[in-house]
Amino acid sequence: MCLGVSRGATYERDDGLVIMNYDKCIGCRYCEVACPYGARAFNWEERGDDPNPRAPEWGTPEVERRPRGVIEKCTFCVHRIDGGLAQGLRPGVDPEATRPA
Ligand code: SF4
Repeated sequence: MCLGVSRGATYERDDGLVIMNYDKCIGCRYCEVACPYGARAFNWEERGDDPNPRAPEWGTPEVERRPRGVIEKCTFCVHRIDGGLAQGLRPGVDPEATRPA
């Protein structure tokens, strides 16, 4: 799925969700250009270990903060889906496993 040299930065889970592994993204931006939906955005600044100062610390603290120099996209709130499944809930049906509180 990932178009860049760093294969595996974007991958499809068994349930069909396409998500990112930011640790593998090298920020080549090929996927940003190729995406027909314009759904990808580049986190500007050089890649480094410093947290991105533009990423808010409020809102959804359970979501990993995106580092600089990588592509980001919608996560499908995968943390809520996985958390809901772990509790026996049905994502898309049970609100606690579907949308932000
Ligand atoms: S920017 Fe990252 S996710 Fe996109 S193609 Fe390049 S390595 Fe893959």
